[in-house]
Amino acid sequence: IRIPTPENDPIRAYAPGSEERASLKARIEELAASPTEVPCIIGGEEVFTGNVHEMRSPHDHSLVLGHYHAAGPDEVRRAIEAANDAWQSWSRTAWVDRASIFLRGADLLTGAKWRDTLNASTMLLQSKTVFQAEIDAACELVDFWRFNCHFAEGIYAEQPLSAPGMWNRSEYRPLEGFVYAVSPFNFTSIGGNLSGAPAMMGNTVLWKPSNTAVLSNYFVMRLMEAAGLPAGVINFIPGDPVEVTDVVLASPDFAGLHFTGSTHVFQMFWERIGKNISQYRSYPRIVGETGGKDFIVAHPSADPDALRTAMIRGAFEFQGQKCSAASRAYVPRSVWDRMKDGLIEQTRSIAMGDPADFRNFMGAVIDEKSFKKLAGYLERAKEAEGVEILAGGGCDDSKGWFVEPTLILADDPRYETMCEELFGPVLTIHVYEDGEWEAVLELCDSTSPYALTGAVFSDDREAARQAMDALRHAAGNFYINDKPTGAVVGQQPFGGSRASGTNDKAGSPMNLLRWVSARSIKETF
Ligand code: GLU
Repeated sequence: IRIPTPENDPIRAYAPGSEERASLKARIEELAASPTEVPCIIGGEEVFTGNVHEMRSPHDHSLVLGHYHAAGPDEVRRAIEAANDAWQSWSRTAWVDRASIFLRGADLLTGAKWRDTLNASTMLLQSKTVFQAEIDAACELVDFWRFNCHFAEGIYAEQPLSAPGMWNRSEYRPLEGFVYAVSPFNFTSIGGNLSGAPAMMGNTVLWKPSNTAVLSNYFVMRLMEAAGLPAGVINFIPGDPVEVTDVVLASPDFAGLHFTGSTHVFQMFWERIGKNISQYRSYPRIVGETGGKDFIVAHPSADPDALRTAMIRGAFEFQGQKCSAASRAYVPRSVWDRMKDGLIEQTRSIAMGDPADFRNFMGAVIDEKSFKKLAGYLERAKEAEGVEILAGGGCDDSKGWFVEPTLILADDPRYETMCEELFGPVLTIHVYEDGEWEAVLELCDSTSPYALTGAVFSDDREAARQAMDALRHAAGNFYINDKPTGAVVGQQPFGGSRASGTNDKAGSPMNLLRWVSARSIKETF
């Protein structure tokens, strides 16, 4: 059996006057005007728990997009039962039959009905611009599902040697129990992959989406159902993270965690799972992608224009709310002198506002907590010695959670915004003397506990090689002369190490292998 070889789903332009733009605009208006009631989906059934929470747009305090019904302990227990029931048949379903569901889901998402719905809900509740939504909720999700099926083919085909008189084989069983998928707000596609990848490999799943991304994630769940996902294979249970997790981790059938979110929460998971370890049927697989303090380091030979574009796009697209976002940059003085004015000017000219206005480059940050955290860093930066705000620095919550794209210049390369993850549109720059290239590489490597993404800019091959070597463990995704964001499924498998995660590379065979438990069978004739 061969799965069709996938190609990356092309990005649509939504050009002014185009039919695709009109259709998306209409869907945005529709979703904004008619609030959605989001239930839990447990064993294929809608469950309206009555414990309702508002879904409010980050860029418009007055825009309520509906409510979601949070799962409480009883619903989580029901979801575990539903997952266990579904496991009986799903874990024995032929992998091609499972794959065909995800291939169909991807295909449906290339049509306007689902694509508009996922893009519009991502724009409205996660404040993504049209371009940001399109590359996430549409293209990347299509890619995740298609490439996962393609990679699965390779995994199932991998078989051991045999010899005369015997037949050895590997049977790639799913895990014995359910997988808990905990997904973040910043990528709709990640929700579809954290739940979809283990399911594709024959597991059943409890999916707790981020409470700030429930709307788009609910539609992803609906899409998988429309593609033919059987009841109970994935159970959609938004809710209070602690309350839901308490019940999940107490179950002996908990077999794996598929997580993207903060380092702090992921570490808490390890501790909790460790404490409960003797009560689980098997050792749970723990897969997580967490924080980052992603760098751009420029060599004196770097092209200032390419560097400027990478800094702007890497730091400010999607308000810097990517684990991969460029948030610290090391620039040699000679290059800095040639690019500084252009960088400041371009940063100041960024259009920020309602993403439904397609001309905006940035929307609002996700919620009040994030807004306050960023405002705190910016206040402190204004007061700090040896720290200068070159552009931005303002926050405005009168209409939504808006934080200006901000450039900070720090004399001290260990100033707090050079080291800590802010998860917002703030780029801190440290200018170093041209002769200190090797010292700056060492500094870059040792400044933060994270190791997710990073970029070197250099027109000098030897310098780029030096950076590759000195920063070997400082990033799981490393870019030479490009911004450190925007990994494409099938092209740059994504993930980091150190405090950034288990580096199981989303959208790759390395990830899928975590969701199977092989049985070696020897048959003697
Ligand atoms: N894969 C995305 C990128 O390369 C980032 C995903 C994340 O923020 O978790 O930009």
